[in-house]
Parts: sequence; structure tokens; C-alpha cells
Amino acid sequence: MIYLDNAATTKPDLQALERAGEFLNDNYFNPSALYKEGFALQCALKQSREKLVSYIGDAFSYDLTFTSCGTEADNTAVFGYARRGNAVTSAGEHAAVLSAFSELKNRGVAEPRYAPLKKSGGVDEDKLLAMIDDKTSFVSVMHVNNETGAVNDIAAIAKRVKAKNPRVVFHSDGVQAYGKIPFRLTDDIDLYSVSAHKIGGIKGTGALIRKKSLAFRPYIFGGGQESGRRSGTENVFGIKAFEYAAERKFSFLQADAARVAALRERLFSLLDKRIFIRLSPPDASPYILSVSAQGCRGEILLHMADDRGLLIGTGSACSSNAKARYSRVILACGYNESVADGVLRLSFSPLTTEAEAEESALILNDCARELLCRTK
Ligand code: PLP
Repeated sequence: MIYLDNAATTKPDLQALERAGEFLNDNYFNPSALYKEGFALQCALKQSREKLVSYIGDAFSYDLTFTSCGTEADNTAVFGYARRGNAVTSAGEHAAVLSAFSELKNRGVAEPRYAPLKKSGGVDEDKLLAMIDDKTSFVSVMHVNNETGAVNDIAAIAKRVKAKNPRVVFHSDGVQAYGKIPFRLTDDIDLYSVSAHKIGGIKGTGALIRKKSLAFRPYIFGGGQESGRRSGTENVFGIKAFEYAAERKFSFLQADAARVAALRERLFSLLDKRIFIRLSPPDASPYILSVSAQGCRGEILLHMADDRGLLIGTGSACSSNAKARYSRVILACGYNESVADGVLRLSFSPLTTEAEAEESALILNDCARELLCRTK
């Protein structure tokens, strides 16, 4: 089997799992327990938070609150900081942000505003800026788009947003960026969401990174864990697996990104250009390649490839149950429905080999040619 759906989830890092298992075996206490073992565990979790922050920001200015996933981190940001008036985001956001924005409207909290995308997949910054006024409380712009891999320059965008309205809370969904592309948080970025299972951790662990000068607004209330910021007994195994997986990811980040970019180019170079067009921009994250097979239905190709042992995506795995036939992100980039119909998302990991990339291109060419013959 060849697995090229790493933007949906990654294979857990075995070493990280083993270390986390050993840690849990020795530290199975409740981190809130009053005996010294519980306190020691609290200290260990504090270290995990600081380490996970340190890879992208300084631990004096930022802290991190563990959540159950990236979706919860995004929802915590949206519902915690969007206030009366309006809140601005982009049309390309993941459903974790976009659906939360719709809910702001349903609940009468704030008027959601959606900035369009450019053909390259990034947000149209000028149009986003034009939507911000003195009633804007919250702005959310994703770092790396999960369907196209397009990278938004969130440091520059946050700077322009704050220059226009310094009271805005600026959030970015960094789920597809953290541990994959080089980046440091800048002073204008208040909140940043991450998720463990995209970088070799396990499903069910995420985090919201927050500038310490911003008051925390909890989304989940209860026993007061995470200093009252996110109640619920901490997922010690998931947190430790996240920390250990991130440790390895960040130590090889540059080398992995270069190698994965080369694999992506090798795969694309072998695709039949009479059929496949590239949708990801040249400066996209190396981990995601979005293509469209002209005249083919992406979903059918996905199943044909699956039968040949190649696992790929058509868009966001989290929205694969949605009734919408076409990728809303690809349509928002300005492509027509026939291009959007043929979309395939190939997403890589440092475990992907050159032979797998080459074999994948051959499988995709065969499947697309067969489908085109069948439908002629
Ligand atoms: N944001 C982006 C950009 C994503 O790609 C995903 C998952 O695909 C999420 C948020 C949701 O993360 P999780 O699966 O941890 O809830």
C-alpha cells in the first residue's frame, strides 16, 4: 500500500508512541492529584507545553493549552474572542473555522465576513483588509491550506490587520503548518492552533497557542484543568506522544521539507500533462500537491487508485461527508466546476519514498486513462 493522504492524518511515530507508553506506565496518576506524584506530572505537562511552544515562539510570550484536537483549538479561538460587531476570515478555511463562523451568525454573536481567495489559493489580503473596520473583534486566517497547500504569510497579514485595528484578536489555524514549514510566531499573532496527528502524534490531541498578554477565554468548563483554560483530565499519553513526535519533526524539518518537495516534483513530472493540471501554487507547502484530472471525477479516481493500493484524498478528509460535490476551496480559487470535479489531493510525509512517488504517478495515469476511455 502507498499512503499519500498525510494531510488527513499521519502514521504515528512509533518511537514517540513507545516513549509515551513508557511515560504513561510510570506516570498513570491524575495530573490534578494532590500527592507529589500528581504534582510531578503537572510539572512534566508544563515542560511539554513549553517545548511545543519553543519550536515556533518564545515561551516567555506564548503559552499553550492542550485540547482534544485542532478543531477544538479553532472553536476555542472563534467562540472565545469573536464579539459583538463582526469577525473576518477567509473563504478557504477548514470547516473547523468556517462552521464556527456560521455558528457565530446563528447565535447572533457577530456578523461573519469571508475574504475571497486568489487563484494561487492564498487569501486576497487587500480584500480581507477592506473588510476590517472598528467593529471587527476577531480575524482568523489559516497558515497552510489543507487542500491546496497554499501558504498565507500570516505574519505580514497580522501586521496589516493590527495596523488597521489594533484591538483585533488575530488567530491562525496552523494545523497543516506546524512541524512542516519553517516559521516563528510574531507579536501580531495572538492565537495559533495545532494538531498532533498531522505530525506523527495520535488523533485526539491538539493545542491552542496563545500570546500571554491576551486573557484566556475558556470554551470548556469543569474541573479547572489546564489552569482553568480547558477542563477535562489531560490526555497524558497523547500529550507526551505529541511532544516526542514534534521533537523529531522539528529536528529534521528543513531536510524533510527539501526531500518531500523533491518527491512531489518527481511525482508531478511523471503525471500525464494531457490529463492532469496542477492547482497547488509553486510556493505551496511541500507536503501537499493538489491536481485536477480533466474530464474525470476525482472521487471515482480515488476509488480506482484505492483498488490499486494507492490511498489519496480529494479534499479535506473532515469534509468528505459533506453533500457538496465540488471542493469549495477550489471553486473559491476561481476554478470552474469541471476542474473542481477532478480534484485529487496527494499529501506526503518524510516516510514517502521516491519509488512510491513514481509508482503513484503511474497508477494515477493508468486510472485516469482507463476512466477517460470508459466515459468516451
Ligand atoms: N485545520 C486544518 C487546516 C486541518 O487540515 C484540520 C484537519 O484536517 C483541522 C483543522 C482539524 O484538525 P483535527 O483533525 O485535529 O480536529
